[in-house]
Amino acid sequence: MTDRLSGKELSDEIREGVARTAAELREGGTTPTLAILLATEDEGSKWYTRSIAKAAEKVGIESRLETLSPTASEAEVCAKVEELGGDPGVHAMILQTPLPEGVRVEAAAELIPPGKDVDGMTAANLGRLVGGRGGFAPATAEAVMRLLRWRGVELAGARAVVLGRSTVVGKPVAQLLLAEDATVTVCHSKTRSIEKIAAEADVLVAAVGRARFVTAEFVRPGAVVIDVGTNAGEDGSLVGDVDADSVEGKAGALTPVPGGVGLVTTACLLAHAVEAAQAQAA
Ligand code: NAP
Repeated sequence: MTDRLSGKELSDEIREGVARTAAELREGGTTPTLAILLATEDEGSKWYTRSIAKAAEKVGIESRLETLSPTASEAEVCAKVEELGGDPGVHAMILQTPLPEGVRVEAAAELIPPGKDVDGMTAANLGRLVGGRGGFAPATAEAVMRLLRWRGVELAGARAVVLGRSTVVGKPVAQLLLAEDATVTVCHSKTRSIEKIAAEADVLVAAVGRARFVTAEFVRPGAVVIDVGTNAGEDGSLVGDVDADSVEGKAGALTPVPGGVGLVTTACLLAHAVEAAQAQAA
């Protein structure tokens, strides 16, 4: 049987710690504040930002949802990012994608002060990640690592395969796995014999954005499979990148979607936000 590697307990544990830190900060006169900039009508993004704002409020972090028109220009988006970045009352910032057409994510993200960049979007934080010099890693990548640690997976010397090479998930996950001494292979849309490579993995991370892409052929018996994917199913439900029915009984453990990586990602964002507030209050 495949173990269900739920993110619930871990997420609760992280959030409890965040709530304690937020309370201490408030007692010391600092209200930890997270600003979320949204410039899209995309329903999924709107739902996601609302859920982060709600989760933040629950743990004592003030959330400021800043919206711009989905037709905003790059100059307007950049000006808002700069304004929030320069606001001493804002300790942490998230720039929600997609951005309006023609607005380059790199251009806007680069204006987030690295100390407020709690989703690791800036070149400074990505560079620190590669150099193993701390900073904020993208929250989803950190969530994957936290889940593996929670499960007690021995990463030193393990064979890890990451499916997907985006800057927000695939590449940072690969860097973090490498930092834990795993032997890492990154696959992408041009990879040949992807099933064969995946099936060598002790740890398989799926971040391709394709519903039920990973089937039993991708999985080595007993492998720990982390499903990062959040895809819309035909009936509107949330579907992972892994075909859970297909890998059942073959994978040693699998994170559910929903209830796995996503829950822990939100908790990591909140943890980063109080960490940012602590550093700025010091
Ligand atoms: P992305 O930017 O679209 O990147 C997808 C990656 O998968 C790319 O590197 C792409 O390869 C690769 N890929 C696509 N089709 C493939 C195929 N047929 N075979 C092999 N590789 C393929 O997506 P992302 O932002 O990394 O997100 C990945 C998934 O994670 C999505 O479902 C997203 O919704 C989800 N996500 C979840 C969370 C969370 O908190 N749970 C957070 C972020 C993202 P190329 O580079 O060659 O194009």
